[in-house]
Amino acid sequence: MNTPQTLAFGTEAAHLPIKKMNIQRRALLPNDVSIEILYCGICHSDLHAAKNDWGGSTYPLVPGHEIVGKITEIGSEVSKFKVGDLAAIGCIVDSCGTCSHCHEGEEQFCESGWTVVFNSPDKISGGMTYGGFSEQIVADADYVLKMSDKVDLAASAPVLCAGITVYSPLKHWKVGPGKKVGIIGIGGLGHMAIKIAKAMGADVTVFTTSPSKMEDAKNLGADHAILSTDKSAMKDQRGFDMILDTVSAKHDVNVYLRALKVDGSLVLVGLPNEPLEIGAFNVVNGRKSFSGSNIGGIAETQEVIDFCAEHGITADIELINPSEINEAFERLEKGDVKYRFVIDLKK
Ligand code: NAP
Ligand code: ZN
Repeated sequence: MNTPQTLAFGTEAAHLPIKKMNIQRRALLPNDVSIEILYCGICHSDLHAAKNDWGGSTYPLVPGHEIVGKITEIGSEVSKFKVGDLAAIGCIVDSCGTCSHCHEGEEQFCESGWTVVFNSPDKISGGMTYGGFSEQIVADADYVLKMSDKVDLAASAPVLCAGITVYSPLKHWKVGPGKKVGIIGIGGLGHMAIKIAKAMGADVTVFTTSPSKMEDAKNLGADHAILSTDKSAMKDQRGFDMILDTVSAKHDVNVYLRALKVDGSLVLVGLPNEPLEIGAFNVVNGRKSFSGSNIGGIAETQEVIDFCAEHGITADIELINPSEINEAFERLEKGDVKYRFVIDLKK
C-alpha cells in the first residue's frame, strides 16, 4: 500500500527543539481526504505537549491543530469535498461515532476516547497521529471542516482551536445581550473570546496581567480592561454572570469567584500543569460554579467557522516561516505574541 511521506516540523524529545523531519501519512481510505496544508496556528497546547508539560507526550511529536489547506485527493466514498476545495482540521480526527455524546455532536466527550490530530494513537492505521506542522495531512472527511474562500485563511486558522474553545462555553453558558462576561488572559484564546463574546452581544470585561495589552483590549472590542495585578481595582469587580479563564499557568482563581454574581460560573479552558486552589467560601457563598470546557464538537466547530466568517472575526496574527517555530515557542512561553503565531507552510 502507498503510504505517503511528508515533510513535517516536530521534536524528538521534550528538551529538544523543533526540527525538520519526514513522517508517514496513512494511505487514503475510502472516506479520507488528503489536504495540502497552507497555514497552521500555534496554540499554547502545542507548546505544552512538545515540552511534555502534562505528561503523556510520545516522540517524535509533530504539533499543530489549527490547520487550513486545500483538498488534493479524495477517497472513493467522499462526497463532502472535491479536489481543490478549501478545508480545515482542528483537534478531533476520529471518535467512536456511536456513543450518546458522538450522537449529540459532542465528540470531545466520546466515551471510547476521541483521536487527537497529534500525539494520539491512530485507531485505524496504528502508530501515532502527527499534527499540522507539516505540508500534508490525511483524515476522515467526517472530521474535516469546510472553509469559505471569502475569509483571510491564515488569520482564520486559529478559529479551529482558539475560536471553538471559547465559542463553545460562551454559547453553553448563554452569553448574549444583558450578560456581564469576564475574560481572563489576552492570549490566543482570550483575544478570540473578546471578539466572539462582543459579537454575541455581551458586556465584556477583560482581565490581563500585561500593562501593554490594556489599550489593545479596547481595540479588540472589550468594554472594560482591568489590570489583574491591581489589587484595589480587582476588589471592586462584582456581578459577572460568567468569567472565562484562558490562563495557561497556575494563578489565583478565588478573586474571580468572588467577582461572580449569585449562581455565576467561572469556566476554565486554560490548562495549567499545576492544580488550582479554591477557597470553599468563594463558591459556597453565592451558589457559584467552578467548571471547565474542552474544545467543541465537529458540528459546533463548523458553526464557529461560519459565525466568524459572518461577523468578520479573524485572529490577530504574526505569520511566520517554519524555520521560526522555535523562536515562536520561546516567545509564546513568555506571553510575547499579539495574539497568535500562524505558520505559513508554503514558505
Ligand atoms: P497564550 O496565547 O499563551 O495565552 C495565555 C495568556 O494567559 C497569556 O497571554 C497571559 O495573558 C495569561 N497568562 C500567562 N501566564 C500567566 C500567569 N502566570 N498568571 C496570569 N496570567 C497568565 O495561550 P493560549 O493558546 O491562548 O492557550 C491558553 C491555555 O488554554 C493553555 O493552557 C492551553 O493549553 C489551553 N487550551 C485549552 C483548550 C481546551 O479545550 N480547554 C484548548 C486550547 C488551549 P495576559 O498577558 O493578558 O495576562
Ligand atoms: Zn489549541
